[in-house]
Amino acid sequence: MFALLLLATAVWLGRVLYDNAEALVIGAAAIRRRIAASAEGPTRACQNCQAQNSMTAKFCTSCGTSLGQPASRDDRVTVVSEKERSSTELRRSA
Ligand SMILES: [Zn+2]
Repeated sequence: MFALLLLATAVWLGRVLYDNAEALVIGAAAIRRRIAASAEGPTRACQNCQAQNSMTAKFCTSCGTSLGQPASRDDRVTVVSEKERSSTELRRSA
């Protein structure tokens, strides 16, 4: 009787673990697909509503905000040029 109960518990536990593992695999695949889509998809987030728009879109398809050049790229260029300038100044003063 005890062995039967143990066997039933083992079977139940195995099935629960199997179901959870399947759910985890499906979830991981969905997350991986979403990451891949966001990484390689030629989309650009709207700065106003964060909606994804194609790189060729001039205006957001969700809110109509003008999609200019991404500001982050300009910021990076500014930071690099400032860094170059400061290093040049350091070299000059040394
Ligand atoms: Zn928008």
